[in-house]
Amino acid sequence: MSSCARGAGHSRCAYKEMPFPIKVCVICSREFELRPDKPGFANRCPSCSEPDAEEPPADHSFGPIERKVRHEVDAARRRAMRDLLYRKDV
Ligand SMILES: [Zn+2]
Repeated sequence: MSSCARGAGHSRCAYKEMPFPIKVCVICSREFELRPDKPGFANRCPSCSEPDAEEPPADHSFGPIERKVRHEVDAARRRAMRDLLYRKDV
């Protein structure tokens, strides 16, 4: 069974506790986990992603990255669910 989001090539996942990439906030330079479900911008920490931020949204700078992360997490989640289903069958 492989629960590693990095793909089947990884037998041992080194990111067990931190499955999301660490990004540096462009506003306050603090490090934060880039989660696909993190509200706000992918290049800002949660506290700098408050809706009342004055900066205009920079869609183009985080679109591809966020989409890629979301896709990876989605795939891993789907794989895990399929694993569960098959396990129930057996
Ligand atoms: Zn910040």
